Amino acid sequence: MINTTPERPTSIGVEDVRDYPMFIDGQWTDSESGKWREVTTPVSRNLVIGRAPDASADDVNRAVQAARRAFPAWRALHFSERQRILAKIADALEARTEEFARLTALDTGNAIRTQARPEATTTVNLFRYFAGVAGEVKGTVLPAGENQLQYTRQEPLGVVGCILPWNSPLMIAGFKLPAALAAGNTLVVKAAEAAPLSLLLLAEVCAEHLPPGVFNVLTGRGSVAGAALVGHPDVDKVSFTGSTEVGKGVARKASERLAHVSLELGGKNPSIVFPDAAEDDDLIGNLLLASRVQRQGQSCTAGSRLFLHTSIYDDVLSRLVDALAEQVVGNPLDEVTDIGAIINATQLESVSQYVTEGLSTAGITAALDGTATPTDADGYYLRPTVFSGADNKWRLSREEIFGPVLVAIPWTTREEVIEMANDSHYGLAAYVWTHNLDDALTTAHALETGWVQVNQGGGQVIGQSYGGYKQSGWGREVSLEGMIAGFTQTKQINVRIAG
Ligand code: NAD
Repeated sequence: MINTTPERPTSIGVEDVRDYPMFIDGQWTDSESGKWREVTTPVSRNLVIGRAPDASADDVNRAVQAARRAFPAWRALHFSERQRILAKIADALEARTEEFARLTALDTGNAIRTQARPEATTTVNLFRYFAGVAGEVKGTVLPAGENQLQYTRQEPLGVVGCILPWNSPLMIAGFKLPAALAAGNTLVVKAAEAAPLSLLLLAEVCAEHLPPGVFNVLTGRGSVAGAALVGHPDVDKVSFTGSTEVGKGVARKASERLAHVSLELGGKNPSIVFPDAAEDDDLIGNLLLASRVQRQGQSCTAGSRLFLHTSIYDDVLSRLVDALAEQVVGNPLDEVTDIGAIINATQLESVSQYVTEGLSTAGITAALDGTATPTDADGYYLRPTVFSGADNKWRLSREEIFGPVLVAIPWTTREEVIEMANDSHYGLAAYVWTHNLDDALTTAHALETGWVQVNQGGGQVIGQSYGGYKQSGWGREVSLEGMIAGFTQTKQINVRIAG
């Protein structure tokens, strides 16, 4: 047992490599196995900034048992008490927003101005939102007759296991944690191996306000700690965000014991530009936002399949390429940086392979070759690449690259572009660019995705339903309805009233 709150780095100037223990049952702890794994920062290639425990199945069991013990008292609290606690956590997070932003930049490589700071702010807002709606976990009363009282209650599921990815771990934790807690569940959270630090800082803040065992954070490998959490008989629900491939395995394993499961998975999202939108002054800025290149393309909602109408194809493409070429790629802790670092060498290699494939395939044109100009920074940095004249059937157009790579595909009729956009096993998000109401709404309604944005690249509001169609996932988050559907179950009570 370690049990002292560790100091956390906020710049890569830290000379000493520290241990960052995990958080179980209100205590800072190492793994029972005694094993640790190095934590590196993508900011500077291979720089080790610490170690985090390599959690074993025994550690998972410890955390689940702590969450189980804490559940009866936590669920029994009046909602207004859970609300008060979550609102206090939101205030405490807000007071440390800058620390969270810097740590997120260091942990994930996301640029502080364009990504990490907004992610920290959104996390605060998510805690505040779910604190606010904690009293909305309501049932219904049925019109069952004068001698009957028939009603439903929305009850918590119990122990929820949350498994998080590395791309925006803090904000995605904010999608799940306050919703599950507000509804009366207790939590065991498994941080991604590649970016565990912001989650451990979140545990530190929550520890000041939550009873021991209500919120536990594990570090370690997905194949060990993640798998043990999914398979643990005392975990009532698994809430997973990550790749479609791993998500399918998680769903299979959790289904063996009929545990509740929700999945937020990958995307290969269409961004459809109609001719009239080319007139918009802010089109290019918005397309850039939608492409998520400012998060290195490491976003499940990246509008990476760019469908440009043939009449405006060359004009929009050349303006977008100019704007992408001007993006400042470099140290995520630097305020001038637009695009930070790719998470690690493996991911850089994976993205680079897609780029190499595009560059070496006959018939594909690189309108912008991100590999042609190296960046000045020493780390996993890559400038954006745009492939032009793409075919929707190409591997580059079908697979989630999760890097700053766009494919531009020409189209002529609305029916044709809708068909191409829907020709994907993914269905997370989509973008439609036109001021023609009929085109905008017909297209938005026909797209097989869980989220469609019209004429904007950002615009996610806390409280909106968020989740995927098809192989982009099961369930919804970020919203009151997602909280009720995802973190409660319905109990029906029928009472005979003696007259
Ligand atoms: P990943 O699937 O490799 O890992 C996600 C998490 O699962 C990690 O914590 C990992 O340790 C864990 N894990 C790995 N193997 C496991 C197993 N066998 N059992 C249980 N857990 C296991 O994903 P990633 O590379 O961390 O994140 C990138 C992916 O996440 C992309 O596909 C992206 O689209 C997706 N994503 C989706 C959303 C969304 O909201 N839909 C948001 C962010 C990221």
